[in-house]
Amino acid sequence: MVHESFLEQVDRMFDKAAAHTPHPPGLLKQIKVCNSVYHMTFPLKRDDGSIETIQAYRAEHSHHKLPVKGGIRYAPSVNEDEVMALAALMTYKCAIVNVPFGGAKGGVMIDRRQYSEAEIERVTRRYTYELIRKNFIGPGVDVPAPDYGTGPREMAWILDTYNTIANDKLDALACVTGKPVGQGGIRGRTEATGRGVFFGIREACRFAGDMEALGLEPGLEGKKIVVQGLGNVGYHAAKFVQEGGAVLVGLAEYEGAIYNPGGLDVDAVMAHRRETGSILDYPGAENLPRSADALELPCDILIPAALEGQITRENARNIQAKIIAEAANGPVTADADTILLERGVFIIPDVYLNAGGVTVSYFEWLRNLSHVRFGRMSRRFEESMHQQLLRAVEEATGKKFSPETVARIAHGASEEDLVNSGLEETMIEAYNEIREIARRHDVDLRTAAFINAINKVAVSYLEMGIFP
Ligand code: GLU
Repeated sequence: MVHESFLEQVDRMFDKAAAHTPHPPGLLKQIKVCNSVYHMTFPLKRDDGSIETIQAYRAEHSHHKLPVKGGIRYAPSVNEDEVMALAALMTYKCAIVNVPFGGAKGGVMIDRRQYSEAEIERVTRRYTYELIRKNFIGPGVDVPAPDYGTGPREMAWILDTYNTIANDKLDALACVTGKPVGQGGIRGRTEATGRGVFFGIREACRFAGDMEALGLEPGLEGKKIVVQGLGNVGYHAAKFVQEGGAVLVGLAEYEGAIYNPGGLDVDAVMAHRRETGSILDYPGAENLPRSADALELPCDILIPAALEGQITRENARNIQAKIIAEAANGPVTADADTILLERGVFIIPDVYLNAGGVTVSYFEWLRNLSHVRFGRMSRRFEESMHQQLLRAVEEATGKKFSPETVARIAHGASEEDLVNSGLEETMIEAYNEIREIARRHDVDLRTAAFINAINKVAVSYLEMGIFP
């Protein structure tokens, strides 16, 4: 069998869903293709004075809404096909959670562990400069964010470089999201993708009939979970599902995996990793030599939260989980997807499940453009209204509320409260939308999610009058 690239796999998933839509082939093709890709090569002066050539990309998949949006990853595996596939997933993801952006993705082909902080800063600033030169960045054009191998620090360098050169000073803060809070970032963005994964899994587990069909009880409580990848997304997903009452039985990082059917505490495992440099040899847990071994552990829910292409036709038949919750982008190949569906595995797809990151990026972008913290105008007003209401109830009943009850009820929403509740609402709404489409068309959730995305993007084109 010929090797199918990541982009070909995403396109195959698209075609499978497109067959359930009424749109003409020309429109479907316009939705599917990547609008622009910029491949740049630039020099990096290493700390030892030597010069290295760096390959980097930015793909803008769909301009049906502006700006386009998507993270930047730093990884040795970065290539043009990968950024194009990831940019396409961003278009569908934004449509699924009703975030009004087109999709994009960037990548720099470097193994960041081999570079000093100063070298990473030089790469990031030069990459940003290249994007500015070609109009591939800007608050209304293309807004990057963190992805695998990048975080708030890189976003702060991007902002600073953009600020130095760009003319649109008033809106410049909105040229990138996932920034540190002191640099125009928003509270809750770092945890957002993991928190969104938790909301999505919790919502999926709420439907008794769906769980019964898998031989599971409804609810997250007591579900045995394995998480592969403890980066920002995997760590936070693990933390939130654990807090939600699930039991983490397996955790994996690139050095290997650990298994304890009695449960693992993710923060204790992270502390052990900081101390020893590895998650292996964690007290009371069994060591598994390869990260990929974790995928085949017995559990109810498997959360792949590392990179794409982890579950393939080679290992799909060995997966014991009843639910696969795709926190990473593209962790299940198209072939593996077919095998898993035949085996009755329930897959909560990446294009929905990891959309919490871009959802909160959208909130950050709105905050930057409005130049005001969410809740600033209303917090104290809400607090005083709640206090008055409690006092009125006390007067009417002659009873007094405890100070704890007053403190719990009589406060206004902070920015973090609003961000988290906006995220929760978004994830619950979007799940119910795709679940309904899945039932109507009798298809799996991924196909339903793609159908939903295709229809929403199609509406934009039809409204623009581009297609009859
Ligand atoms: N890199 C994240 C993703 O794959 C976030 C993108 C964003 O916030 O723009 O969804």
